[in-house]
Amino acid sequence: MLPGLYYGAMDATEYFSSKKISCPGCLTCEHANGDITCSHKTLQVAIMHPSMSQVIPLMPEAIHNTDGKLKQDCEMNAAKRLIPKLRQEYPKLGFIIGGDALFSKQPIIEDVLSNRMHYFFVAKPDDHEYMMAYIDAARQINGVHSISCPQKDGKIHRYEWANDVPLNKRKDGIRVNYFSVTIISMQKDGNEKITFRSSWVTDLVVDKSNVVIFAKIGRCRWKIENECFNTLKNQGYAAEHNYGHGENHLAFNIYLFTLIAFLFHQVFELTDRQYQACRKKFGSKTHLWETLRSYVKILVFDTWEKLLDFALDPVKYGVTMLPLRGP
Ligand SMILES: [Zn+2]
Repeated sequence: MLPGLYYGAMDATEYFSSKKISCPGCLTCEHANGDITCSHKTLQVAIMHPSMSQVIPLMPEAIHNTDGKLKQDCEMNAAKRLIPKLRQEYPKLGFIIGGDALFSKQPIIEDVLSNRMHYFFVAKPDDHEYMMAYIDAARQINGVHSISCPQKDGKIHRYEWANDVPLNKRKDGIRVNYFSVTIISMQKDGNEKITFRSSWVTDLVVDKSNVVIFAKIGRCRWKIENECFNTLKNQGYAAEHNYGHGENHLAFNIYLFTLIAFLFHQVFELTDRQYQACRKKFGSKTHLWETLRSYVKILVFDTWEKLLDFALDPVKYGVTMLPLRGP
């Protein structure tokens, strides 16, 4: 969509939580009743495309406490560590870092730019009153551009943009480019009803030729939650299971193993016809993993390919199968 640039959505997720087990790295949360919850989180960037369901996770940054620091670690601090690490790891990759409203703040934007990256960060009107007032004033003198695109489903997608606007009222405040999309349904009584609205800031110049694509990319950020974290937790990877908490880094290392497995499976989905056939035959990932697990419990397979071949057609191997049932 944008030659030479890869969109990587950045978001945090929790993969361990307990009121009983803890380690020095645990984040802690004290509840009103005195209970303390210990947890581990990670900040993840995953490369994605609006028209593809597969996502490619990159090395995450652990959000955990370290010795001697009074203040707990947080998503924002992890982002400040992760961004330069990504640039170091991929020195030539063209990045657009996507993120929620937490990241549309000057310090993170400066870090992204100083690491030769671009950004699409959600900018909520309530968080950016000064910028929104500036845009409102610009709207009065036709300084804000807009286009309306009628859709096949009868809805109207209205895009708006304004380049070179102040992000905040700081003296050294940076200037950003703003764009938004509003989805409007026409009611039976002829009135318009807004069904969706989102706005972002970016360093890329927005114009009539790219605003639709920018909004599509900005909106696909949900895939990190749905296709990545949700799959890791609810589609047979059991990322939140306590496989072992350890004394230092065991919990995070086990999370990394799980993430590596998921990464390989995403690559298989994109490239491996045998695996693609298995995904089609078994439907959900949970069902596929359950089936493969049951086979390796009772049979020995020389290779992964033979396991998948067996799963696709056990009858070929002289096995009589009961009719396949869903999970
Ligand atoms: Zn811990």
